[in-house]
Amino acid sequence: MDDVYLTIEEVLNKYNTNRKTGLSIEQVHNASSLYGANKLKDKKQKPLITRFIDQFKDIMIIILLIASAVSFGVAIMEKDQSELVEPILIVAIVIANAILGVIQEGKAERSLEALKKMSALNARVIREGQECIIPSVDVVVGDVIKLEAGDFIPADARLIESVNLKCEESILTGESLPSEKDAGCEVPVDASLGDRKNMIFSGCSVVSGTALAVVVATGMKTQVGDIANLLDREEDQKTPLQEKIASLSKYLGLVSILACVVVFIIGMINGMRLKDIFMVSIALAVSAIPEGLPAIITIVLAMGVTKMAKKNAIIRKLPAVEILGSASVICSDKTGTLTQNRMTLVEIYTPGSGEIEKVSDNNSNDAKKLLEYATMCCDGVITVEDGLEHHIGDPTETAIIKACMINGILKEEINEKSPRVASIPFDSDRKLMTSVNIIDGKKVVIVKGAFDEMKSRCVNQDLAAAKEHNDEMSSRALRVIAVAYKYTDNVSAEDLEDGLIFLGLLGMIDPPRDEAREAVALCKRAKIRPVMITGDHIITAKAIAKDIGIMDDGDLAITGRELDKMDEDEFLDAVDNISVYARVSPQNKIRIVNAWQKRNHVVAMTGDGVNDAPALKAADIGCAMGITGTDVAKNASDMILTDDNFATIVQAVSEGRLIYKNIKKVIEYLVGSNIGELLTVFIAMVLWGLSPLESMQLLWINLITDGFPAIALGMSKGSDDIMLKGPNSKDENLFYGELGKRVLLEGMIIGTVTTIAFYIGSRFGVVGGRTFAFIVLSLTQVINVFNIKTDKSILKEDVFDNSYLNWACLSSLALMCVVLFTPLGKIFGLCKLQSTYYIVAILLSLFPTVLFEILKIRNQKRED
Ligand code: ATP
Repeated sequence: MDDVYLTIEEVLNKYNTNRKTGLSIEQVHNASSLYGANKLKDKKQKPLITRFIDQFKDIMIIILLIASAVSFGVAIMEKDQSELVEPILIVAIVIANAILGVIQEGKAERSLEALKKMSALNARVIREGQECIIPSVDVVVGDVIKLEAGDFIPADARLIESVNLKCEESILTGESLPSEKDAGCEVPVDASLGDRKNMIFSGCSVVSGTALAVVVATGMKTQVGDIANLLDREEDQKTPLQEKIASLSKYLGLVSILACVVVFIIGMINGMRLKDIFMVSIALAVSAIPEGLPAIITIVLAMGVTKMAKKNAIIRKLPAVEILGSASVICSDKTGTLTQNRMTLVEIYTPGSGEIEKVSDNNSNDAKKLLEYATMCCDGVITVEDGLEHHIGDPTETAIIKACMINGILKEEINEKSPRVASIPFDSDRKLMTSVNIIDGKKVVIVKGAFDEMKSRCVNQDLAAAKEHNDEMSSRALRVIAVAYKYTDNVSAEDLEDGLIFLGLLGMIDPPRDEAREAVALCKRAKIRPVMITGDHIITAKAIAKDIGIMDDGDLAITGRELDKMDEDEFLDAVDNISVYARVSPQNKIRIVNAWQKRNHVVAMTGDGVNDAPALKAADIGCAMGITGTDVAKNASDMILTDDNFATIVQAVSEGRLIYKNIKKVIEYLVGSNIGELLTVFIAMVLWGLSPLESMQLLWINLITDGFPAIALGMSKGSDDIMLKGPNSKDENLFYGELGKRVLLEGMIIGTVTTIAFYIGSRFGVVGGRTFAFIVLSLTQVINVFNIKTDKSILKEDVFDNSYLNWACLSSLALMCVVLFTPLGKIFGLCKLQSTYYIVAILLSLFPTVLFEILKIRNQKRED
């Protein structure tokens, strides 16, 4: 019978499990071998052959292949076997490149897959009587799972216990409002999915409340498994730069076709043979196309995000890498991100004593009562193992429990003496938590939370003194929690949290993270505006913001309520000056993101709760907390901070800038060389009616000589000044700016030098000219990469600090020697030259670097 119609006991018996102890390890093994891993069928892996064929789906490669086919056909028609070598070699190099592409893309894919696993979701299960956290894929049928607000549901499960449980099930039911769930409810026969109130379903999330449930189906057997094929799976995402490269490819393809038409016309006018015209056309196509560029960018991106993951920032969506480099505002939570989230309760205020006392092992009776009541309203636990204390749960709560312990009162004893009968969990929207305990046989409601939220709920007391103490403690950066209570008979009364008797205030410190000040200063130097958004009291928030440098003189701090009162225009005018938002609601967060975006800023925003998900989505870069973050927040984010640290965001921005800069250098290097080649071929065609380099020689340079240094260039280390400049412009048009000018200039210089080389070498015939042009172009590329590597003068920098680049250049040189000095040279249409020519080649190849060096020094002088 369907689990939904069974009683809880019947379900537990059916799956041979226990609500308190869960499954045994043996049962888990059996279940996992019976049902397999708890995951949906993987996106179909493309077979190797398809991935290989995909490599040829590039417009540049297609042009190249068509040109080779034509030249092959012409050679056959003319029965000229010697002319067959070139198209065959081109196809061979293209195939070799495709194989390399498949291998490297596979590597990049694997490192991205590894990242995905790092951000995969976990589940809380009870096994062998112990609560443990395991990867969701390891959940098995019969497991008892524990859930709370913000958790993703790992499998289909029947509820055993539920408190105020609401789940979001829109992927299954289409219903966008959360549906209420109840472990005890009876479900009518033939109930639709949405009406199965005693069940929870895989892939949905818990919006509020808590639950205990027994898993009844996993993986493809779940409801979401049924429709898995209909769900749109995550597609491979391209970054803005990759998209720009794709359109650049099309553009260059067009340029090469145009150049071919011009060459064709010139050739016909000059009465050249059709076959020769085709040879030049192929050379033109090869020269214009940066064949290795797309693959190299994929590799550089994959390596970059792997490096970021090692530094605690897991990128979930690839485009975020580039957008990070453009971030100009970082809106950060306070607790745990800018502060250590290591709360220590230091001060207690009770109206009875009328003053603040420090926490000690012998506090006043009033203070002890306050601590005891507050502890009853805490979910955290402190365990002691081998003399070491472990604080489990919300640090605000463990700080209260600890202060109670110092006074000799243990939470376990309190729990036994005054058991809890009901509770409303803490919610950062309400900023309150409530529990109902039996004290001396009577039901007592205990409420703890922010003083602002509590004061209107307390009756018959003058709270003026308490307010003064609350503000004074907050101004010293203390987090203040107010506690109140009342007797009740009706636990489900609407006014359960009203009509309270005020007990006192607890003040705790949460020191700033050591690295926060430095990270904030770095942000400011990098022209990124740090903004604090917190649920805490405005005075506490201001005190911390000033301490770590987020709030300067003249900056404003406002509360969520003040923000609510501002109209859109008013807020847009003020947003630049506001550094601190206190007592915010999740809706406020979205408004803040939108306002900065309207002012044309790229916004990174942190968040951890379920309610933060919309703001995380609205931000350009949503950063979820890895430690305190809920599954829902993580799922809505672009990046996960595994250490919840503000400094990590700043570091990720710096990495993002570096990756973007490196990719631009790779583009400059490869496209500059392509333009140089295109010009050389075109000029020689116009001047002498022949190509100064054969297509296979050009292909060799583009793929082999340039390939290794280009990848190594993409791995360049960052320099200190990367965070001294402003953010990258988000709408930067790659080639309109500085990069476009540089690429053109480089192309012209490389083209000139190669043409001169061909002219000099031609004294030994066309083959001599080509050989000399080949050597000079190869050497130029190997030397020029060091010029491109740095924006500064190479005399002022350690140009050899990138060992990958040094080795890559040496390999390129070694391979150049192989084609030059072995029998392979003949196949490649190269010959031997007099040794003095090699010296001239080196001198010529140095020319572009010397010229750029002069330009750099001149620019530097201008900047000074
Ligand atoms: P941030 O958004 O920067 O992380 P925060 O952690 O201070 O800020 P919340 O956790 O929403 O924000 O807390 C807001 C207020 O709610 C706190 O100032 C405190 O007064 C109160 N509060 C925090 N934790 C609890 C808790 N466990 N029980 C009761 N009240 C709490």
